[in-house]
Amino acid sequence: MKLTTWTALLLLAVPQFGWGQTNGASKKVSGEETAAPLSQNIYSVIGATPRQETLLRAQIQIMNAEILPLRIVFVPHWKYLDTARTFHLHVPTGYTSAMFTHLPSRTIFIDADRYINDDSLVYWVAHELGHLATNSTKESDADKAAGPFRARLKESAMLAALAGKP
Ligand SMILES: [Zn+2]
Repeated sequence: MKLTTWTALLLLAVPQFGWGQTNGASKKVSGEETAAPLSQNIYSVIGATPRQETLLRAQIQIMNAEILPLRIVFVPHWKYLDTARTFHLHVPTGYTSAMFTHLPSRTIFIDADRYINDDSLVYWVAHELGHLATNSTKESDADKAAGPFRARLKESAMLAALAGKP
């Protein structure tokens, strides 16, 4: 059990270190490095509290999705419904209706008035990243693509707990 844990820790730590290195280097040699890795903070987060934004950015980085949104927008409930209507989207009942993704603009809309807790926020953002990864509006495609993202979140939370972080 312990050996498995440390193997997971190594597997997780190495690519992250590598990414940070490459990113730092590409900033210094401007123009030379065109194939710089996608910056994890290139998207904007609008309307969230600073705490929500920090949480989202950290968790999205852990999920390591290849296709990131261009923006994540928190809107009040009336605006959320209004936006969904504008995009001719049917907003289903249940937790999934707390957010949706508009694929052409790569925008995730989040109903700020239906914010439940941090865990559910991150759980459903993984689903929305699944829509982006598959470029599909189908729920089954999004859920399938969200699987590895959620697994990375789980792994990261487990390792943080082992390291004694809050
Ligand atoms: Zn969906």
